[in-house]
Amino acid sequence: MKIRELFDQKTVFSFEIFPPKKTSPIEVIYDTLDELQGLKPDFISVTFSAGGSGNGGYACEIASRIKKSGITPMIHLPCINYSKDEINATLNEIKARGIENILALRGDINPNIPPKQDFHYASDLISYIRSQGKFDIAGACYPECHPDADNLVEDIMNLKKKVDAGADHLITQLFFDNDTFYDFREKAALAGINVPIEAGIMPVVNKNQIERMVTTCGASLPRKFVKIMQRYEHNPEALRDAGIAYAVNQIVDLVASGVDGIHLYTMNNPYVARKISEAVSGIIGL
Ligand code: FAD
Repeated sequence: MKIRELFDQKTVFSFEIFPPKKTSPIEVIYDTLDELQGLKPDFISVTFSAGGSGNGGYACEIASRIKKSGITPMIHLPCINYSKDEINATLNEIKARGIENILALRGDINPNIPPKQDFHYASDLISYIRSQGKFDIAGACYPECHPDADNLVEDIMNLKKKVDAGADHLITQLFFDNDTFYDFREKAALAGINVPIEAGIMPVVNKNQIERMVTTCGASLPRKFVKIMQRYEHNPEALRDAGIAYAVNQIVDLVASGVDGIHLYTMNNPYVARKISEAVSGIIGL
């Protein structure tokens, strides 16, 4: 099933998972995967390391397993640290496994890994994948601007190039303030970007995540969000419940405002994915 077709039928509801590190056996993710598949999302996307940690093989295998369960898989494919030959090898594996959906990415530039020279931007990869077969291709987008871009207008002009290169739909970086998404969606429409845009929602349910949010994530943290995190950071159960409730609130508001889809960053946590799926099932029509 090509994911683009789903947007014509419903508000799409999807999950994202990440493969185990190469030092762990792939089987460590199977129980998590079984539970997430059991929640019947419209598709599950599998991240793929850009940094040479080499879990790409796992990503293909996990996407295959998702497909066998009857759920549509989407595999992420970053290009900045891969040569055309390496991308060809992965595309051949993706094709051989019957995976039709790819999230085409540049990947973060790691100061310790000199980028390969075949693909500079996600749009280069998207044009290339388009020439290699009938894939459904998604791209990433950034409601609060990609950190490498000088401003949101410049970033949206570059996003337009990505869509013109052949992106069928887009998935946003996580955000905690829905108004930033609505502002971005309006600017994207004005720039002539008319493909479906799924909103990426990350439930923040533990202290490690809060610390990561504060130090590494460019997402702005609304006062309401900070207050909740500060209030419950030393009470793991309350923090988990508050994080789930915050994500559910965001989703209800987004769906009421006509969002094309919700992409849940599950952080491989089936409990959290289940609670959120149950809370929004009537709204999304699961
Ligand atoms: P691009 O679209 O290439 O954009 C990168 C920068 O270049 C932006 O500042 C943009 O404005 C600019 N730009 C783009 N095109 C042009 C152009 N033609 N000319 C000039 N400037 C241009 N990373 C992984 O390694 N693995 C994953 O599995 C993964 N999954 C992700 C999933 C989602 C939903 C998101 C939002 C991100 C994901 N990432 C992943 C992170 C992503 O790789 C980084 O954010 C990366 O820095 C940018 O990737 P991109 O595809 O958006 O890049």
